[in-house]
Amino acid sequence: MDQLILSKDLHWDLIEICDKKFQLKKARENNANGLFSNENFSAGEEVFQFNTKNIVTKPSYLTVQLDDHKHFSLDPDFLQYMNHSCDPNIFMDTDQLRLIALKDIHVGDELTFFYPSTEWEMDQPFICNCGSTRCQQFIGGAYSFKPEVILQYQLTNYIKRKVREASKAL
Ligand SMILES: [Zn+2]
Repeated sequence: MDQLILSKDLHWDLIEICDKKFQLKKARENNANGLFSNENFSAGEEVFQFNTKNIVTKPSYLTVQLDDHKHFSLDPDFLQYMNHSCDPNIFMDTDQLRLIALKDIHVGDELTFFYPSTEWEMDQPFICNCGSTRCQQFIGGAYSFKPEVILQYQLTNYIKRKVREASKAL
């Protein structure tokens, strides 16, 4: 059986500084990549503006969802290394294409977002081991959550609309 290790217990080595604001790191134990902050941000502050590229009709483990059949890859590429957490410190605003700090962020903090905040049904569901007291365990997209649970998170307008439509259909 795989030994699951919490992100905070990993030993992260700095690979490179990206766009001054980010530290790309790799974990010694499992070669996982992670994106960390190279600056301080206050809750609510804009952290970064990104772009979309390679818009496709089906999701992959690297894409972010814009609409039912619209998924994009993140530009710049290093943003793909931002990991999931059930207690995230980043929100990905796919309308305005920017990252927003959900909490105060300090230099060296790992940047994480809640994957179901942008994804209705993910290409590669997984069992989360983020270690947060909010951990939702099964992460397969917003569709699998009860509305009252998913609505505790900041969600893209697309996901909010999908949650509303799904709860009406019940
Ligand atoms: Zn979790």
